[in-house]
This record gives sequence, structure tokens and C-alpha cells, in this order.
Amino acid sequence: MKRMLLGVFAVLAAVQVQSNPVYTNAHDWINSGKFEGDMVLTDAQRNGDRNETLRWTNRVIPYELWSGYTAAEKAFIKNSLNAFNQTCLKIRERVSTDINYVYITGENNSCWSWVGMLGGAQQLNLNKICCCQRSATVVHEFLHAIGFHHMQSNYNRDDYLIVHYENIEPGAEYNFDKKTINQVNDFGLRYDYDSIMHYPRKAFSKNNRDTIEPKDPTAVIGEAKKMSDIDIAKVLKMYKC
Ligand SMILES: [Zn+2]
Repeated sequence: MKRMLLGVFAVLAAVQVQSNPVYTNAHDWINSGKFEGDMVLTDAQRNGDRNETLRWTNRVIPYELWSGYTAAEKAFIKNSLNAFNQTCLKIRERVSTDINYVYITGENNSCWSWVGMLGGAQQLNLNKICCCQRSATVVHEFLHAIGFHHMQSNYNRDDYLIVHYENIEPGAEYNFDKKTINQVNDFGLRYDYDSIMHYPRKAFSKNNRDTIEPKDPTAVIGEAKKMSDIDIAKVLKMYKC
């Protein structure tokens, strides 16, 4: 089943490269064409990250790097993943006995990931052109693979921000869907404007006006260059570090 799904997304990717070949946005993951910009969900995952079966076994996340990356790109990705040394997760290169692992590819279709551990090989794409130049993007995509959704899809987001649907590109509204408290767990931590998993103000804007307006006018969203303290705390809680 998974092989078939990956095949389908490979076809989607090929179509997307033709229609959207220019990668100039610092938030590359937004333009990936996947659910909420850069996530791929199975039907089961639409129930959200409360699903314990999505956790990585023994807190180990093996990865394999696509052979098409240059040595510098490989080093950049590896170095970016050192951010998770602040957690109890062990993100390391795959050895032959690892059955479940992330296969990091550099296809020209932006940056995206599945959410949580699916079992077997699961793709996570980091486009050579854009994603390999920004550590935050590598960390953001890995947080999806670890089991996290976007911050602004949290069940309580309307207490903290206003979504301006009138400014969203037609057809992109689903990227601003909200999860229920039964689907996502914020582990008792407050809403986090500083999260590396938060969309920026102008995500999917059709007119360069804000699509997301924080209710706190001083809040800066979608510009995080590293995991916030709360991002880290959530990983620690999710994996019972
Ligand atoms: Zn994302």
C-alpha cells in the first residue's frame, strides 16, 4: 500500500515541477502542494498525532540520504539534524537492520514529509535547490516525521490568531483547517507563536496581505530559525524523554 502511495505522490511531484519550477520563497514547504503545504497524511493520520502508533520505536529515527545529494548537501542535512540532540531522540544514519526509516530525497518538488512513523521506508523530500540552504526547513520537516502538525492548525488557534480567508488563494483554504482536541495534543503547553511549525503571516496569500493575523500584535510568526523552547518541550513530552 505504501509503495503505491509513494508512486502516486511521485506522479504528483512530476506535475508540480512543471507548474511551479521557481523556488524563491524562504518558506519552501508552503508551496509543496501537499496537505497543509508540506505534509502527507494517510487516512489514519487524519486522526492526528495523538495516535501512539505513529511514534518512532525506541526513540530512534534512522535516515538514509539520497545518493543524488552532494557531499556538502549531505553534511548540511546531517548538521541541521544535530538540533535534535537537545531531545532524547536519536536521529542517525540507517544501518541494514533498520526496517523503519526516513528516506531523505532531493526531488525538485519542494520540501515535505509524512507525519509520524509509518513503518518501512518513508520519504521526506528536501529539494536540493532550496531546502538544503535552510536548517530550519530540515528541522521543520523532521518535526513532521517525528509526529507534529502545524501550530496554526491547533484546536485552540482561534484564541490566538485570525485567519483572513478573504486573502487566501482560491483553493488553498484547506491549508488553514483546524484540528480538534481529540486529534492533536499540545501536552499542556501554551500556544506557541515562536514555533518552527507555525505558518508566516502571508502564507498562501493571493494579494500580499496577511492570511494569518496574530491577536498579539507584537507576535512574530513563521520566521523561526530554530526550534522554540516549547517545540523542544513538546518533543520531550511526546517521546517521554
Ligand atoms: Zn510543515
